[in-house]
Amino acid sequence: MATATKTKKQNIAQELLTKQRAFFRTGETKNVDFRIKKLKLLKKAITAHEEEIYEALKQDFGKPVFETYVSEIGMVLEEIGLMIKNLPNWSDPEKVDTPITIHPGSSYIYRVPYGVTLVIGAWNYPFNLTLTPVVGAIAAGNCVIMKPSELSPHTSAIITKIIGEIYEEDFVAVVEGSVKETQELLAEKFDFIFFTGSTRVGKIVAEAAAKHLTPTTLELGGKSPCIVAKDADLAMTAKRIVWGKFLNAGQTCIAPDYLLVHENVKAALIFKMKECVKEFYGNNPEESPDFPRIINKDHFKRLSAYLEDGNAVVGGNTIPADLYIAPTILDNIDWEDEVMQDEIFGPILPVITFTDMDEIVEKIKDLPTPLSLYIFTEKKSLAEKLILDVEFGGGCVNDTVTHFANPNLPFGGVGNSGVGAYHGKFSFDTFSHHKGIHKKSTWLDVPLRYPPYEEKVLLVKTIVN
Ligand code: NAD
Repeated sequence: MATATKTKKQNIAQELLTKQRAFFRTGETKNVDFRIKKLKLLKKAITAHEEEIYEALKQDFGKPVFETYVSEIGMVLEEIGLMIKNLPNWSDPEKVDTPITIHPGSSYIYRVPYGVTLVIGAWNYPFNLTLTPVVGAIAAGNCVIMKPSELSPHTSAIITKIIGEIYEEDFVAVVEGSVKETQELLAEKFDFIFFTGSTRVGKIVAEAAAKHLTPTTLELGGKSPCIVAKDADLAMTAKRIVWGKFLNAGQTCIAPDYLLVHENVKAALIFKMKECVKEFYGNNPEESPDFPRIINKDHFKRLSAYLEDGNAVVGGNTIPADLYIAPTILDNIDWEDEVMQDEIFGPILPVITFTDMDEIVEKIKDLPTPLSLYIFTEKKSLAEKLILDVEFGGGCVNDTVTHFANPNLPFGGVGNSGVGAYHGKFSFDTFSHHKGIHKKSTWLDVPLRYPPYEEKVLLVKTIVN
Protein backbone atom coordinates (compact mmCIF):
# COMPACT_ATOMS: atom_id res chain seq x y z
CA MET A 1 0.00 0.00 0.00
CA ALA A 2 1.42 3.35 -0.99
CA THR A 3 1.93 5.69 1.90
CA ALA A 4 1.44 9.35 1.09
CA THR A 5 3.43 11.58 3.37
CA LYS A 6 1.28 14.61 3.99
CA THR A 7 3.37 17.73 4.25
CA LYS A 8 1.87 20.25 6.61
CA LYS A 9 0.91 23.47 4.81
CA GLN A 10 3.15 26.30 5.93
CA ASN A 11 1.74 29.67 6.94
CA ILE A 12 3.16 32.86 5.42
CA ALA A 13 5.67 33.32 8.24
CA GLN A 14 7.03 29.79 7.85
CA GLU A 15 7.13 30.04 4.06
CA LEU A 16 9.11 33.27 4.13
CA LEU A 17 11.46 31.98 6.80
CA THR A 18 12.22 28.86 4.79
CA LYS A 19 12.98 30.96 1.70
CA GLN A 20 15.10 33.47 3.60
CA ARG A 21 17.06 30.79 5.43
CA ALA A 22 17.92 29.19 2.10
CA PHE A 23 18.96 32.54 0.63
CA PHE A 24 21.04 33.48 3.67
CA ARG A 25 22.91 30.20 3.33
CA THR A 26 24.03 31.12 -0.17
CA GLY A 27 26.28 33.68 1.52
CA GLU A 28 25.31 36.48 -0.85
CA THR A 29 24.34 38.89 1.92
CA LYS A 30 27.79 38.50 3.45
CA ASN A 31 29.27 40.35 0.51
CA VAL A 32 29.64 44.03 1.35
CA ASP A 33 29.17 45.12 -2.27
CA PHE A 34 25.85 43.23 -2.35
CA ARG A 35 24.68 45.11 0.75
CA ILE A 36 25.74 48.48 -0.63
CA LYS A 37 23.98 47.74 -3.91
CA LYS A 38 20.77 46.81 -2.07
CA LEU A 39 20.92 49.94 0.10
CA LYS A 40 21.39 52.11 -2.98
CA LEU A 41 18.31 50.51 -4.50
CA LEU A 42 16.31 51.37 -1.41
CA LYS A 43 17.51 54.98 -1.47
CA LYS A 44 16.52 55.34 -5.09
CA ALA A 45 13.11 53.77 -4.58
CA ILE A 46 12.29 55.96 -1.56
CA THR A 47 13.20 59.07 -3.53
CA ALA A 48 11.13 57.90 -6.49
CA HIS A 49 8.08 57.34 -4.25
CA GLU A 50 8.50 60.45 -2.11
CA GLU A 51 5.14 61.98 -3.07
CA GLU A 52 3.28 58.74 -2.31
CA ILE A 53 4.93 58.56 1.10
CA TYR A 54 3.76 62.11 1.91
CA GLU A 55 0.26 61.16 0.82
CA ALA A 56 0.24 57.95 2.88
CA LEU A 57 1.29 59.74 6.06
CA LYS A 58 -1.26 62.45 5.40
CA GLN A 59 -4.00 59.85 5.02
CA ASP A 60 -2.95 57.90 8.09
CA PHE A 61 -3.05 60.85 10.48
CA GLY A 62 -2.71 64.16 8.69
CA LYS A 63 1.06 64.40 9.01
CA PRO A 64 2.43 67.56 7.33
CA VAL A 65 4.93 67.24 4.47
CA PHE A 66 7.66 69.05 6.44
CA GLU A 67 7.42 66.64 9.38
CA THR A 68 7.21 63.64 7.05
CA TYR A 69 10.40 64.68 5.33
CA VAL A 70 12.33 65.68 8.43
CA SER A 71 11.28 62.88 10.77
CA GLU A 72 10.64 60.01 8.35
CA ILE A 73 12.04 60.12 4.79
CA GLY A 74 15.05 62.35 5.49
CA MET A 75 16.16 60.29 8.48
CA VAL A 76 15.92 57.00 6.58
CA LEU A 77 17.87 58.45 3.63
CA GLU A 78 20.52 59.83 6.00
CA GLU A 79 20.85 56.43 7.66
CA ILE A 80 21.27 54.72 4.27
CA GLY A 81 23.93 57.26 3.27
CA LEU A 82 25.82 56.71 6.51
CA MET A 83 25.77 52.94 6.06
CA ILE A 84 26.92 53.09 2.44
CA LYS A 85 29.80 55.38 3.39
CA ASN A 86 30.99 53.40 6.39
CA LEU A 87 30.17 49.80 5.54
CA PRO A 88 33.55 48.84 4.07
CA ASN A 89 35.25 50.07 7.22
CA TRP A 90 32.72 48.80 9.78
CA SER A 91 32.53 45.34 8.27
CA ASP A 92 36.30 44.82 8.32
CA PRO A 93 37.50 42.63 11.19
CA GLU A 94 38.61 44.92 14.02
CA LYS A 95 42.06 44.14 15.44
CA VAL A 96 42.31 44.32 19.22
CA ASP A 97 45.16 43.84 21.70
CA THR A 98 46.25 40.34 22.67
CA PRO A 99 47.46 39.76 26.25
CA ILE A 100 50.99 38.48 26.64
CA THR A 101 49.74 35.28 28.32
CA ILE A 102 48.32 34.00 25.04
CA HIS A 103 51.02 35.24 22.68
CA PRO A 104 52.12 34.75 19.96
CA GLY A 105 49.02 35.58 17.99
CA SER A 106 46.62 38.35 17.08
CA SER A 107 42.97 38.97 17.98
CA TYR A 108 40.02 40.26 15.98
CA ILE A 109 36.35 41.09 16.31
CA TYR A 110 34.39 39.90 13.28
CA ARG A 111 30.97 41.51 12.90
CA VAL A 112 28.86 38.90 11.16
CA PRO A 113 25.15 38.90 10.34
CA TYR A 114 22.76 36.98 12.57
CA GLY A 115 20.82 35.50 9.65
CA VAL A 116 17.07 35.96 9.27
CA THR A 117 15.79 38.89 11.30
CA LEU A 118 12.33 40.15 12.20
CA VAL A 119 11.58 43.89 12.42
CA ILE A 120 8.24 44.89 13.97
CA GLY A 121 7.34 48.56 13.65
CA ALA A 122 5.11 51.06 15.46
CA TRP A 123 2.57 53.38 13.83
CA ASN A 124 3.61 56.78 15.12
CA TYR A 125 6.59 57.32 12.81
CA PRO A 126 5.59 54.37 10.67
CA PHE A 127 8.03 54.87 7.81
CA ASN A 128 11.09 55.73 9.87
CA LEU A 129 10.57 53.24 12.70
CA THR A 130 10.10 50.32 10.32
CA LEU A 131 12.72 51.18 7.72
CA THR A 132 15.58 52.56 9.82
CA PRO A 133 16.09 49.23 11.60
CA VAL A 134 15.75 47.44 8.26
CA VAL A 135 18.59 49.58 6.87
CA GLY A 136 20.75 48.45 9.82
CA ALA A 137 19.77 44.82 9.27
CA ILE A 138 20.65 44.94 5.55
CA ALA A 139 23.90 46.80 6.20
CA ALA A 140 24.94 44.11 8.65
CA GLY A 141 24.22 41.41 6.05
CA ASN A 142 20.95 39.93 7.27
CA CYS A 143 17.74 38.89 5.58
CA VAL A 144 14.68 40.67 6.96
CA ILE A 145 11.00 40.05 7.42
CA MET A 146 9.31 43.30 8.38
CA LYS A 147 5.90 43.83 9.98
CA PRO A 148 4.72 47.46 9.79
CA SER A 149 1.93 48.57 12.10
CA GLU A 150 -1.66 47.89 11.10
CA LEU A 151 -2.68 51.25 12.61
CA SER A 152 -1.03 53.18 9.78
CA PRO A 153 -2.30 51.13 6.80
CA HIS A 154 -1.47 53.64 4.04
CA THR A 155 2.16 53.82 5.11
CA SER A 156 2.24 50.07 5.46
CA ALA A 157 0.97 49.77 1.87
CA ILE A 158 3.60 52.08 0.41
CA ILE A 159 6.35 50.29 2.34
CA THR A 160 5.11 46.99 0.89
CA LYS A 161 5.07 48.50 -2.59
CA ILE A 162 8.60 49.90 -2.36
CA ILE A 163 10.10 46.74 -0.88
CA GLY A 164 8.24 44.53 -3.37
CA GLU A 165 9.62 46.56 -6.28
CA ILE A 166 13.27 46.30 -5.30
CA TYR A 167 13.84 43.14 -3.29
CA GLU A 168 13.12 39.44 -3.72
CA GLU A 169 11.17 38.15 -0.76
CA ASP A 170 13.86 35.63 0.03
CA PHE A 171 15.98 38.65 1.00
CA VAL A 172 13.57 41.28 2.40
CA ALA A 173 9.83 40.72 2.74
CA VAL A 174 6.92 42.59 4.27
CA VAL A 175 4.12 40.90 6.18
CA GLU A 176 1.15 43.19 6.62
CA GLY A 177 -1.45 42.42 9.23
CA SER A 178 -2.22 42.86 12.89
CA VAL A 179 -1.87 40.91 16.10
CA LYS A 180 -2.60 37.48 14.57
CA GLU A 181 0.05 37.89 11.87
CA THR A 182 2.57 39.25 14.38
CA GLN A 183 1.94 36.32 16.67
CA GLU A 184 2.41 33.87 13.81
CA LEU A 185 5.76 35.46 13.09
CA LEU A 186 6.73 35.45 16.75
CA ALA A 187 5.98 31.73 17.04
CA GLU A 188 8.84 31.03 14.62
CA LYS A 189 12.54 30.95 15.36
CA PHE A 190 14.28 34.06 14.06
CA ASP A 191 17.95 34.82 14.53
CA PHE A 192 17.26 38.34 15.79
CA ILE A 193 14.15 40.37 16.58
CA PHE A 194 13.94 44.16 16.56
CA PHE A 195 10.70 45.47 18.06
CA THR A 196 9.40 49.02 18.38
CA GLY A 197 6.20 49.53 20.35
CA SER A 198 4.66 49.57 23.79
CA THR A 199 6.20 48.10 26.92
CA ARG A 200 3.16 45.80 27.18
CA VAL A 201 3.71 44.22 23.75
CA GLY A 202 7.49 44.36 24.27
CA LYS A 203 7.04 41.83 27.06
CA ILE A 204 5.02 39.56 24.73
CA VAL A 205 7.82 39.78 22.16
CA ALA A 206 10.50 39.09 24.78
CA GLU A 207 8.60 36.04 26.00
CA ALA A 208 8.19 34.65 22.48
CA ALA A 209 11.87 35.31 21.71
CA ALA A 210 12.97 33.63 24.92
CA LYS A 211 11.39 30.36 23.78
CA HIS A 212 13.97 30.22 20.98
CA LEU A 213 16.72 32.11 22.82
CA THR A 214 16.49 34.73 20.08
CA PRO A 215 18.37 37.95 20.86
CA THR A 216 16.18 41.07 20.75
CA THR A 217 16.29 44.81 20.72
CA LEU A 218 13.19 46.30 22.29
CA GLU A 219 12.48 49.97 21.59
CA LEU A 220 9.67 50.72 24.02
CA GLY A 221 7.93 53.72 25.57
CA GLY A 222 7.19 55.32 28.90
CA LYS A 223 6.59 58.66 30.54
CA SER A 224 9.49 60.98 29.70
CA PRO A 225 9.84 63.84 32.19
CA CYS A 226 10.76 67.37 31.19
CA ILE A 227 12.25 69.41 34.02
CA VAL A 228 12.52 73.18 33.99
CA ALA A 229 14.80 74.65 36.66
CA LYS A 230 14.35 78.18 37.95
CA ASP A 231 17.40 79.47 36.06
CA ALA A 232 16.26 78.23 32.61
CA ASP A 233 16.10 80.54 29.61
CA LEU A 234 12.31 80.64 29.54
CA ALA A 235 11.65 81.94 26.02
CA MET A 236 13.88 79.27 24.49
CA THR A 237 12.58 76.60 26.87
CA ALA A 238 8.94 77.33 26.01
CA LYS A 239 9.61 77.11 22.28
CA ARG A 240 11.54 73.85 22.47
CA ILE A 241 9.05 72.14 24.79
CA VAL A 242 6.02 73.18 22.73
CA TRP A 243 7.73 71.99 19.55
CA GLY A 244 8.80 68.61 21.01
CA LYS A 245 5.48 67.98 22.68
CA PHE A 246 3.12 68.89 19.86
CA LEU A 247 5.21 67.54 17.00
CA ASN A 248 3.20 64.66 15.47
CA ALA A 249 0.36 65.78 17.82
CA GLY A 250 2.30 64.40 20.76
CA GLN A 251 2.33 60.89 19.29
CA THR A 252 6.08 60.61 19.77
CA CYS A 253 7.71 58.02 22.02
CA ILE A 254 10.27 60.59 23.20
CA ALA A 255 7.87 63.54 23.50
CA PRO A 256 8.14 65.29 26.85
CA ASP A 257 5.31 63.40 28.54
CA TYR A 258 4.90 65.75 31.49
CA LEU A 259 6.40 68.99 32.69
CA LEU A 260 8.03 69.52 36.07
CA VAL A 261 8.57 73.23 36.53
CA HIS A 262 10.01 75.23 39.39
CA GLU A 263 7.33 77.24 41.16
CA ASN A 264 9.22 80.54 40.67
CA VAL A 265 9.07 80.34 36.87
CA LYS A 266 5.89 78.39 36.26
CA ALA A 267 3.55 81.29 35.49
CA ALA A 268 6.04 82.91 33.11
CA LEU A 269 6.77 79.61 31.35
CA ILE A 270 3.10 78.77 30.84
CA PHE A 271 2.51 82.28 29.48
CA LYS A 272 5.36 81.84 26.99
CA MET A 273 4.23 78.34 25.99
CA LYS A 274 0.76 79.72 25.29
CA GLU A 275 2.33 82.30 22.98
CA CYS A 276 4.32 79.59 21.23
CA VAL A 277 1.26 77.43 20.58
CA LYS A 278 -0.39 80.47 18.98
CA GLU A 279 2.72 81.31 16.99
CA PHE A 280 3.15 77.73 15.70
CA TYR A 281 -0.45 76.70 15.06
CA GLY A 282 -2.45 79.98 15.00
CA ASN A 283 -5.54 80.87 17.00
CA ASN A 284 -7.37 77.83 15.67
CA PRO A 285 -4.92 74.90 15.60
CA GLU A 286 -7.66 72.71 14.07
CA GLU A 287 -7.17 74.77 10.90
CA SER A 288 -3.40 74.52 10.92
CA PRO A 289 -1.94 72.32 8.17
CA ASP A 290 0.95 71.63 10.55
CA PHE A 291 -0.96 69.90 13.32
CA PRO A 292 -1.76 66.19 12.80
CA ARG A 293 -4.74 64.15 14.03
CA ILE A 294 -5.00 61.30 16.52
CA ILE A 295 -4.35 57.93 14.89
CA ASN A 296 -7.73 56.29 15.64
CA LYS A 297 -10.94 56.42 17.71
CA ASP A 298 -9.60 54.25 20.54
CA HIS A 299 -6.63 56.52 21.14
CA PHE A 300 -8.89 59.58 20.74
CA LYS A 301 -11.22 58.24 23.44
CA ARG A 302 -8.35 57.35 25.74
CA LEU A 303 -6.77 60.79 25.37
CA SER A 304 -10.05 62.71 25.69
CA ALA A 305 -10.55 61.19 29.15
CA TYR A 306 -7.31 62.86 30.30
CA LEU A 307 -8.85 66.27 29.61
CA GLU A 308 -10.95 65.80 32.76
CA ASP A 309 -7.79 66.24 34.85
CA GLY A 310 -6.56 69.64 36.15
CA ASN A 311 -7.34 72.86 34.27
CA ALA A 312 -6.64 73.38 30.61
CA VAL A 313 -4.69 76.63 30.43
CA VAL A 314 -4.11 76.03 26.72
CA GLY A 315 -6.44 74.05 24.42
CA GLY A 316 -8.57 71.36 26.05
CA ASN A 317 -11.10 71.16 23.19
CA THR A 318 -11.67 68.30 20.76
CA ILE A 319 -13.46 67.60 17.47
CA PRO A 320 -14.39 63.90 17.64
CA ALA A 321 -15.45 63.57 14.00
CA ASP A 322 -12.02 64.79 12.93
CA LEU A 323 -10.08 62.93 15.67
CA TYR A 324 -8.71 66.34 16.64
CA ILE A 325 -7.42 67.11 20.10
CA ALA A 326 -6.13 70.64 20.54
CA PRO A 327 -2.57 71.22 21.74
CA THR A 328 -3.35 71.22 25.44
CA ILE A 329 -1.51 72.25 28.59
CA LEU A 330 -3.07 71.03 31.85
CA ASP A 331 -2.20 72.94 35.01
CA ASN A 332 -2.82 71.89 38.63
CA ILE A 333 -1.96 68.27 38.07
CA ASP A 334 -1.08 65.81 40.85
CA TRP A 335 0.96 62.62 40.59
CA GLU A 336 -2.26 60.68 41.37
CA ASP A 337 -4.21 62.06 38.37
CA GLU A 338 -5.12 59.65 35.55
CA VAL A 339 -2.98 61.59 33.08
CA MET A 340 0.07 60.79 35.23
CA GLN A 341 -0.46 57.02 35.32
CA ASP A 342 0.47 55.92 31.76
CA GLU A 343 2.37 57.25 28.78
CA ILE A 344 0.14 59.97 27.25
CA PHE A 345 1.13 59.68 23.59
CA GLY A 346 -0.99 62.63 22.50
CA PRO A 347 -1.05 66.45 22.51
CA ILE A 348 -1.64 66.88 26.24
CA LEU A 349 1.03 68.30 28.53
CA PRO A 350 0.35 68.02 32.28
CA VAL A 351 2.21 70.46 34.51
CA ILE A 352 3.43 69.67 38.01
CA THR A 353 5.07 72.37 40.11
CA PHE A 354 8.05 71.79 42.38
CA THR A 355 10.21 73.75 44.77
CA ASP A 356 12.85 71.16 45.66
CA MET A 357 14.86 69.68 42.76
CA ASP A 358 16.23 66.82 44.90
CA GLU A 359 12.72 65.74 45.83
CA ILE A 360 11.66 65.70 42.19
CA VAL A 361 14.70 63.65 41.20
CA GLU A 362 13.92 61.07 43.89
CA LYS A 363 10.30 60.91 42.69
CA ILE A 364 11.39 60.23 39.09
CA LYS A 365 13.69 57.48 40.34
CA ASP A 366 10.69 55.78 41.97
CA LEU A 367 8.83 55.62 38.65
CA PRO A 368 9.36 53.16 35.75
CA THR A 369 12.55 54.03 33.85
CA PRO A 370 11.75 56.66 31.19
CA LEU A 371 12.82 56.49 27.57
CA SER A 372 13.95 60.14 27.65
CA LEU A 373 14.60 62.91 30.10
CA TYR A 374 14.88 66.62 29.38
CA ILE A 375 16.40 69.22 31.67
CA PHE A 376 16.29 72.93 31.03
CA THR A 377 18.89 74.82 33.05
CA GLU A 378 21.92 77.05 32.59
CA LYS A 379 23.69 75.19 35.42
CA LYS A 380 26.01 72.57 33.95
CA SER A 381 26.46 70.86 37.32
CA LEU A 382 22.71 70.31 37.65
CA ALA A 383 22.47 68.85 34.16
CA GLU A 384 25.43 66.51 34.87
CA LYS A 385 23.89 65.41 38.16
CA LEU A 386 20.66 64.43 36.42
CA ILE A 387 22.44 62.67 33.57
CA LEU A 388 24.45 60.58 35.99
CA ASP A 389 21.94 60.16 38.81
CA VAL A 390 18.73 59.21 37.03
CA GLU A 391 18.25 56.10 34.95
CA PHE A 392 16.74 56.86 31.51
CA GLY A 393 17.35 55.94 27.85
CA GLY A 394 18.73 59.23 26.51
CA GLY A 395 17.76 62.86 26.29
CA CYS A 396 18.71 66.50 25.95
CA VAL A 397 19.95 69.41 27.99
CA ASN A 398 18.03 72.54 27.01
CA ASP A 399 16.14 70.83 24.21
CA THR A 400 13.66 68.05 23.54
CA VAL A 401 13.62 65.14 21.05
CA THR A 402 16.71 66.18 19.03
CA HIS A 403 18.98 63.45 20.45
CA PHE A 404 16.96 61.11 18.21
CA ALA A 405 18.16 63.00 15.15
CA ASN A 406 21.89 62.43 15.69
CA PRO A 407 22.94 59.14 14.09
CA ASN A 408 26.18 59.29 16.07
CA LEU A 409 24.25 58.76 19.29
CA PRO A 410 22.83 55.41 20.39
CA PHE A 411 19.05 55.55 20.57
CA GLY A 412 17.23 53.24 22.96
CA GLY A 413 15.66 52.79 26.35
CA VAL A 414 16.66 51.00 29.50
CA GLY A 415 14.66 48.99 32.02
CA ASN A 416 10.97 49.49 31.28
CA SER A 417 11.68 51.68 28.26
CA GLY A 418 13.66 49.12 26.31
CA VAL A 419 16.65 46.91 25.74
CA GLY A 420 19.45 47.75 23.29
CA ALA A 421 19.98 50.68 20.96
CA TYR A 422 20.28 51.59 17.30
CA HIS A 423 21.01 54.35 14.72
CA GLY A 424 24.17 54.59 12.62
CA LYS A 425 27.05 52.43 13.85
CA PHE A 426 24.92 51.28 16.78
CA SER A 427 22.43 49.77 14.29
CA PHE A 428 25.20 48.01 12.46
CA ASP A 429 26.47 46.59 15.75
CA THR A 430 22.97 45.72 16.93
CA PHE A 431 22.30 43.60 13.86
CA SER A 432 25.73 41.92 13.95
CA HIS A 433 26.99 39.08 16.04
CA HIS A 434 30.42 40.04 17.37
CA LYS A 435 32.62 37.04 16.85
CA GLY A 436 35.86 37.06 18.83
CA ILE A 437 38.71 35.30 17.04
CA HIS A 438 42.23 34.65 18.26
CA LYS A 439 44.58 33.80 15.39
CA LYS A 440 47.42 31.83 16.86
CA SER A 441 50.88 31.64 15.41
CA THR A 442 52.42 28.22 14.92
CA TRP A 443 56.07 29.15 15.00
CA LEU A 444 56.12 28.93 18.80
CA ASP A 445 54.10 26.97 21.36
CA VAL A 446 54.70 28.32 24.87
CA PRO A 447 54.36 25.29 27.19
CA LEU A 448 53.16 27.32 30.18
CA ARG A 449 49.48 26.35 29.93
CA TYR A 450 49.96 22.59 29.66
CA PRO A 451 49.93 20.17 32.58
CA PRO A 452 51.71 19.17 34.66
CA TYR A 453 51.20 22.61 36.22
CA GLU A 454 53.58 22.16 39.14
CA GLU A 455 54.72 25.63 40.19
CA LYS A 456 53.68 27.36 36.95
CA VAL A 457 50.96 29.35 38.72
CA LEU A 458 53.69 31.49 40.33
CA LEU A 459 55.01 32.43 36.90
CA VAL A 460 51.51 33.25 35.64
CA LYS A 461 50.94 35.47 38.68
CA THR A 462 54.11 37.38 37.93
CA ILE A 463 53.13 37.91 34.30
CA VAL A 464 49.50 38.92 35.03
CA ASN A 465 50.30 41.28 37.89
P1 NAD B 1 2.07 48.48 20.07
O1 NAD B 1 2.95 47.83 21.07
O2 NAD B 1 0.61 48.44 20.29
O3 NAD B 1 2.30 47.83 18.61
C1 NAD B 1 3.57 47.66 18.04
C2 NAD B 1 3.55 46.46 17.14
O4 NAD B 1 3.21 45.30 17.88
C3 NAD B 1 2.54 46.55 15.97
O5 NAD B 1 3.19 46.17 14.78
C4 NAD B 1 1.46 45.57 16.37
O6 NAD B 1 0.91 44.90 15.26
C5 NAD B 1 2.15 44.57 17.25
N1 NAD B 1 1.28 44.03 18.31
C6 NAD B 1 0.29 44.69 18.97
N2 NAD B 1 -0.28 43.87 19.88
C7 NAD B 1 0.37 42.68 19.80
C8 NAD B 1 0.25 41.43 20.48
N3 NAD B 1 -0.66 41.22 21.43
N4 NAD B 1 1.09 40.43 20.12
C9 NAD B 1 2.01 40.61 19.16
N5 NAD B 1 2.16 41.76 18.49
C10 NAD B 1 1.36 42.79 18.78
O7 NAD B 1 2.64 49.95 19.93
P2 NAD B 1 2.11 51.15 19.02
O8 NAD B 1 0.76 51.55 19.49
O9 NAD B 1 2.30 50.85 17.59
O10 NAD B 1 3.17 52.29 19.40
C11 NAD B 1 3.06 53.03 20.56
C12 NAD B 1 4.05 52.63 21.62
O11 NAD B 1 5.32 52.42 21.04
C13 NAD B 1 4.26 53.70 22.66
O12 NAD B 1 4.41 53.11 23.92
C14 NAD B 1 5.55 54.36 22.25
O13 NAD B 1 6.26 55.00 23.28
C15 NAD B 1 6.30 53.20 21.72
N6 NAD B 1 7.30 53.63 20.76
C16 NAD B 1 8.60 53.48 21.07
C17 NAD B 1 9.56 53.94 20.19
C18 NAD B 1 11.02 53.81 20.48
O14 NAD B 1 11.80 54.00 19.56
N7 NAD B 1 11.44 53.48 21.69
C19 NAD B 1 9.18 54.55 19.00
C20 NAD B 1 7.83 54.67 18.73
C21 NAD B 1 6.89 54.19 19.61
